[in-house]
Amino acid sequence: MLQLAEIFYSIQGEGLWSGTPAVFVRLAGCNLACDFCDTDYSLKFLATVDRVVERVRELGGDCPMVILTGGEPLAQAETPALIDALRRDGRRVHIESNGTLFTDLPEDVWLCVSPKERVDPRMAARANEAKLIVDRRVPEEHLTHFTEIKPILLQPEGNKRENIELALAYAKAHPDRFRISLQTHKLIGVP
Ligand code: SF4
Repeated sequence: MLQLAEIFYSIQGEGLWSGTPAVFVRLAGCNLACDFCDTDYSLKFLATVDRVVERVRELGGDCPMVILTGGEPLAQAETPALIDALRRDGRRVHIESNGTLFTDLPEDVWLCVSPKERVDPRMAARANEAKLIVDRRVPEEHLTHFTEIKPILLQPEGNKRENIELALAYAKAHPDRFRISLQTHKLIGVP
């Protein structure tokens, strides 16, 4: 059984796919405890892999993009089975991970790593996208293993002014490495 927090249909508000309609599957639980975390990833219900695939179909119809997020979506033993079942159902699977738990992912899975601490270098090397949260400082120490990927997205925590200004200044000082990612779904009031 998968442990879940919520499943909903919205748009990807952040990062390189910003603006794209997507079904979000939020898995419950996380192996980190970041002090700025404002996500409710507490356990709300249990479901089989098949039931989650069915729910994605009910909510999103033919929407190709499904985002597995959390919490930490790769912390559950059945997540690889869910990824495979969604792919078999014709979905393009995206994963939003903290990159600490090595998982061998199929090539067509889009991996966005938001590094905090203890990033597994193999996940950093596998990442298609890297999103660094700026919360009163730019924690560049989390980028040690992200040597290949460009651009690194700087995401101001909570769209707060202080964090936006920090991220802006940093991106302008290193224009060929960084880009700003805003939480646009919050700006337009969608989940
Ligand atoms: S890794 Fe993400 S979900 Fe987990 S505690 Fe940190 S911010 Fe929250």
